[in-house]
Amino acid sequence: MTAKGRLAPGGQSVSGVVPRRMFAQVVRQDRFGDPRTAFQIEQVAVPEIRPDEVLIRVMAAGVNFNNVWAARGVPIDVIASRQRAGEPWDFHIGGSDASGVVQAVGSAVTNVHADDEVIVHPGYWDAEDPWVKSGRDPMVNGRIWGYDTNFGSFAEFCVAQGHQVLPKAEHLTWEEAAAPTLVGTTAYRMLHGWRGHEVKRGDVVLVWGGSGGLGGQAVQLCRLAGARAVAVVSSDERGEYCKRLGAAGYVDRKQFNHWGVPPHWDDAQGQKAWTGEARRFGKAIWEALGERRNPAIVFEHPGEETIPISIFVCEEGGMVVICAGTTGYSAMVDVRYLWVRQKRFQGSHGCNDEQAIAYNDLVRAGKIDPCLGRVVKFEEVGQVHHEMGEGSAPAGNTVVLVGAAQPGLGRRSDKIVAD
Ligand code: NAP
Repeated sequence: MTAKGRLAPGGQSVSGVVPRRMFAQVVRQDRFGDPRTAFQIEQVAVPEIRPDEVLIRVMAAGVNFNNVWAARGVPIDVIASRQRAGEPWDFHIGGSDASGVVQAVGSAVTNVHADDEVIVHPGYWDAEDPWVKSGRDPMVNGRIWGYDTNFGSFAEFCVAQGHQVLPKAEHLTWEEAAAPTLVGTTAYRMLHGWRGHEVKRGDVVLVWGGSGGLGGQAVQLCRLAGARAVAVVSSDERGEYCKRLGAAGYVDRKQFNHWGVPPHWDDAQGQKAWTGEARRFGKAIWEALGERRNPAIVFEHPGEETIPISIFVCEEGGMVVICAGTTGYSAMVDVRYLWVRQKRFQGSHGCNDEQAIAYNDLVRAGKIDPCLGRVVKFEEVGQVHHEMGEGSAPAGNTVVLVGAAQPGLGRRSDKIVAD
């Protein structure tokens, strides 16, 4: 059956034939736990699209930490939370990064057309939400595509809202194009999205997990802004990787032990010991920089283990901006540093269209390395999420080949040869 016959009323025409069913890496509630077993390949119906949506034939899918959480069912059960919101499905198809070819567009979509080669940004929202309609930042009430929403990129076809679908960089292969968008757009919002604390030339920025998905993008965005990133890493090898991306230097976190909640403020001895170690960490930042300056921005995502030291080393009037709590959520803030030194502690989540377009334009201009790490087969989705969850994944963004038959296809030069 053609896709036209399967579209919701008002759906527009399409490229080629869309099968009734597709293969997908599916998570179900009775399999929540280790991603190696939570993800299983199943055949499910190809989803229908609404007038504001786009059906994409997935060529490659990027792997992100969010689907480690989805597979574990922690901290939320994404299937149950969608069902509470009225959605019918009893399964989750994740995947928040995609490169692919537009197969069908809904009648209200004007920015993309059948056969366009595209990527997808992760900011998803309800255009009818009063908050969004009032013109305020839609992502404040938004969701993360392929995590909070169903029918992400770990399947032959995915569904995105039209505004999320952006042109693929022509010089990148399918797997390169699928690698960086979720982490890159998130990093872009963290560094450029918070008025009064946008990253600027000369700023020192401390980037946790500098060789990881978010960190690798943050280091590059700092370089492009003329800022000096200091990466925090767990080995010299990872630190050198960050320097190649443009970091001014790095700190090896394995040399320190002041993690998690510090001793209570009325424990004078404990506080003294913690502060001594925190000062030593701050000095390591100066040594990495070659000058005695503190970070104007601290780029946070580990959470519970690192927030106290992030707040401590941030310069007076600076900002700690955070998008995750990978090590835990019960973080402790010594509020004296916030009010006396007038530091800002800012949450950040996903991206809006403006931020996604600005980031994608940098990628299309060849100014951002997508930091492609491993390229794996569709069958390996569970295994690579397991490794990411236990912290043993190699540096760079892991990508799964879906429709792309082999690595290396999708560049402009391939098309010239094919023509
Ligand atoms: P990643 O590629 O696994 O990188 C995380 C990095 O954190 C690792 O490279 C590791 O580097 C570092 N790390 C691990 N344990 C640490 C600890 N105890 N203390 C300090 N650093 C530690 O993951 P990612 O893609 O960057 O994502 C990181 C987090 O952000 C995840 O929880 C993800 O779900 C979240 N996230 C949120 C959003 C959003 O919009 N809210 C978007 C993207 C990602 P070293 O071992 O070298 O230090």
